[in-house]
This record gives sequence, structure tokens and C-alpha cells, in this order.
Amino acid sequence: MTVRLIPLDCPSCGSAMRSRDGDTLFLCEHCGGGAVLGQEALEQVESTALLPTPGRRAEIWLPGWMIDAEVEVADRVRAGGRGAPGWKGPKTFVIPAFNLSLSDTIRLARALSAAAGATGQVPHEPVTGGRLKLTDALALIRHLVVGDEARRTDLLASLRVEVVEGSHRLLALPFTKAKGHLQCAVTGTVVSASQEP
Ligand SMILES: [Zn+2]
Repeated sequence: MTVRLIPLDCPSCGSAMRSRDGDTLFLCEHCGGGAVLGQEALEQVESTALLPTPGRRAEIWLPGWMIDAEVEVADRVRAGGRGAPGWKGPKTFVIPAFNLSLSDTIRLARALSAAAGATGQVPHEPVTGGRLKLTDALALIRHLVVGDEARRTDLLASLRVEVVEGSHRLLALPFTKAKGHLQCAVTGTVVSASQEP
């Protein structure tokens, strides 16, 4: 067995990246550059931050994905067998990439994806705890789209959903901390911090 050690230096500026055990996504505290753990090295990815909405502040920043995708919902069939119109269009999704329960991840992703918050500079602060692979983020997006369709009131029987990724960025997401909880400083969504992220 070969153990490969990959130096966690920022591919953009060369600074050592701060991380926690098991992290696979990194945002550089010095230059704001993003990176994901590849087979041989850290691979550079685009990065940005979502800014707190006015009146809210960031006590802690945590990682996420911002993904532009082309979504197509087709072959929508209602109970009873009648077809219903589908739709197609570009959509931006925000998916938390740190440790949360699946239900909290989905709730927060839904709120953040609807919020269309302002973006800005990645903060010069640690953004650690990034674990969620891009492929898993895309699977979650599919889940979100299917969930939205199922919540429409026309007794959906079946449908086909296609999600084609256009571009992706690593994201710093602002939160405030309360006992055992995190509150998103963009949407106000409260999630339980099962582990200190
Ligand atoms: Zn850097």
C-alpha cells in the first residue's frame, strides 16, 4: 500500500491551507482561493463568499458550493395519466458542504438557493469542515428539484429530471453561533450543529 501525502498548500498563493481532519474542500485564508483534494494534488476551483444580509453578521464562515445548472423537468405525468407541462431553464443552487444532518442540509440548501444573496470577497478567516463532493452536491440538487415538483398540488405520478452542471464555485457561507445551533446570516435558517464545524 502506498500512502501519498499531499501538501495542503494553496494552489493560488502557496500559503498553507487551514483544515480539519477529513476535509476535502479548502478556502485559502490568505488569498481567498478555492481548492479541492484531487488524486495527486490540490486542484484549484473558483471561489466566492455569500455576504450576510443587512442587519446580520458573520461569526463563523463555513464552506458550501454554488452551482449554476441547467435544469429540465420533463415527462411530467399526473395521477390519472394526463401529461402536464414541464419546464427548462438555468438555476443557481447553494449547497452547504459541511457536516449537517441530511434534513438540515436540504432545508438550508433550499433556503439559500431561493435567497439569491449577494456575493463578495472570501473572508480572511478560516473556512474549514468542507466535505461534500461536487458529485454529491449535484445529487442533492436533483433531490431538491424532485422535491419541489412533488410539492406542487397536481398529484404528480412521475417525471424525469435532468440537471446539467454549468459551473461551480466553492463558497464561504456566513453564520452566527448559538448553543448547539448555527443560524445562517443570509437566510436566517437555524440548523443544529451536530458536531462543532
Ligand atoms: Zn491562497
